[in-house]
Amino acid sequence: MEDRADVVVVGGGISGCAIAYNLAKRGKKVVLLEKDEIAFEASGRTVAAVGLLGKQEGEFLFAEHSLRLYDQLSDDLSYDVEFIKEGRLLPAEAEADRPIFQEMVAAAKDAGVELELLGREQVRRRFPYIEGGFYDMAYSPNEGHVNPVKVVDGFARAAREYGVQIYTGCIATDIGVTGGRVTSVDTNKGEIKTDVVVNAAGVWAYRLADRVGVHIPIQIVRLSQGETEPAPRFIEPFVRSGIYCMRQTASGNIRVSNGYRDQAVYHDLSFHDMRDIAVWLPRLIKQRKYVSFRLDMELLRYDLRAFLASVRGRSNHHIAPRNKEPRRALHKVRGQLAAASKLIPRLKRLSIQNHWAGYIDLTPDLLPVLGPVGRPEGFFLSMGFSGHGFALGPIVGQLLAEMIIDGKPSLPLDMFSADRFGKMDTPMPTRLM
Ligand SMILES: Cc1cc2nc3c(=O)[nH]c(=O)nc-3n(C[C@H](O)[C@H](O)[C@H](O)COP(=O)(O)OP(=O)(O)OC[C@H]3O[C@@H](n4cnc5c(N)ncnc54)[C@H](O)[C@@H]3O)c2cc1C
Repeated sequence: MEDRADVVVVGGGISGCAIAYNLAKRGKKVVLLEKDEIAFEASGRTVAAVGLLGKQEGEFLFAEHSLRLYDQLSDDLSYDVEFIKEGRLLPAEAEADRPIFQEMVAAAKDAGVELELLGREQVRRRFPYIEGGFYDMAYSPNEGHVNPVKVVDGFARAAREYGVQIYTGCIATDIGVTGGRVTSVDTNKGEIKTDVVVNAAGVWAYRLADRVGVHIPIQIVRLSQGETEPAPRFIEPFVRSGIYCMRQTASGNIRVSNGYRDQAVYHDLSFHDMRDIAVWLPRLIKQRKYVSFRLDMELLRYDLRAFLASVRGRSNHHIAPRNKEPRRALHKVRGQLAAASKLIPRLKRLSIQNHWAGYIDLTPDLLPVLGPVGRPEGFFLSMGFSGHGFALGPIVGQLLAEMIIDGKPSLPLDMFSADRFGKMDTPMPTRLM
C-alpha cells in the first residue's frame, strides 16, 4: 500500500470518487480508501434522479451546474453512464400532496427553473401511458436519471487512469493531527502520510469527523427501494409523486422508492440518538407521521461495542460498520408500485424482481456540508447530502478539487460550511428530505 499521498479521500461513493478523479486530473497524487466495495452504500442504492425540483433556495445553482456536467459525463469519462434526460413529472395525486407540490413549484419558479404546469389533456397527449387521475402535474424538462453504479464506476475507472490508488476493504480508522494540521490517516492496512484528508464517508462521515473534534449533527434514516422485471421502455421521465417515485432504467426495469411526502422512511433507534437530541427531537416530532421508528439490534450491538471501546480509549476501532445491509421493507416497495400503478395502469403487469435498502445522512437544514473546517487544517468535508447527493455529485467533485488546489472554488461554498450549525439557530425545513 502507498505510504504517502498529496490527498487521502475516505469513501468510495459518488462524492469520494468524483473528488479523487478531479484532483488526480489536475496532477495530485491521490489515495482513495473504501471500507467495503466502490458504491457499496448510498451511491449504489439510490434512485439516481439527477435534477432540480425539491432543491432548496441556493442549492438550485449547484444542481444546475451538476446537470450540465451530467450532460457530458459519458464523454468525459469515456464510459456510458446511461443518462436519460427526459425530464421530471411531478404529480399531486392526493389533497395532502398539494401543499408540498405548490411549495416545490414555487421554489423552482423563484430559482428560474424551466417548468410547465400541465392539464389532463396535455398530459394524455404527451404521456399517453398516464391514465390515472391527478389534481396537478408539473413537468421540468431539463432533468433526468442515470445508472448510479455506472456513474461511480465511471469516476473510479477514470480516476485510476489518472493514477489514483483505490483500496477497497480498507477502512480509515483515525486521522493523525500535529500542531493543528492533518499529518496522516490510519487504516486497517497501515498508515498513510498526507497533508490533506477529504472525508466523504457518507452516513458514517460524522464519526470520522468526531475523531478530530469536528462535530456535525447528522441524523440517519433508512429508505427501501425495488426494481421490477424488465419491460419494453415506455416511461421516459422520472416521476415523483407524494408516496412514490419511479423511473424506467435503460434496461427496462422500473425502479420505485419514496415519494415527496416520504411516508416510507424508517429511523433505526440507536445510542447515536442521544447525540444532538435537542436538534433532532423537534424535527422528528414534527415529521412523526412520515417516519417509523425501529430497533436495529445489529446497529445497537455495534454502537454498544463502540461505546465500550471508547471507554477503554479505543473508539477508533468502531468508526463504521462494514458490509452492513440495512433492513429492507418489501411491503413498502409493493405499496409504492401499487400507488404508481394507479397513475400508470400498465405497471400492474410487472412484478418486483429485486429490492434493497439504503441510508441517508440528513443535516438539520437539509443542505450538505462541503469544504474545509477551521481546525485541523487540511481536513475537508463532503457529507450530509440529505438525499440529494447523487444529483450534486459531479459538481461537488469539481468544487472540492478547486477548493483544495486553488484555495477558492468557482462557485461559493459558504452556505455549506461546517461551522454554520454552531453559529445560528438552524432553520427547520418543512419537509423531512
Ligand atoms: C433509496 C435512496 C434513494 C435516493 N435517491 C436519490 C435521488 O434520486 N437523487 C439524489 O440526488 N440522491 C438520492 N439519494 C441520496 C444519494 O444516493 C446520496 O446522497 C449519495 O449517494 C451520497 O454519496 P456519498 O458519496 O456522499 O456517500 P456514499 O455513497 O454512502 O459513500 C460513502 C462511502 O464511504 C465508505 N466509508 C464509510 N466510512 C468509511 C471509513 N471509515 N473508511 C473507508 N470507507 C468508509 C462507505 O462504505 C461508502 O461506500 C438516495 C439515497 C437512497 C438510499
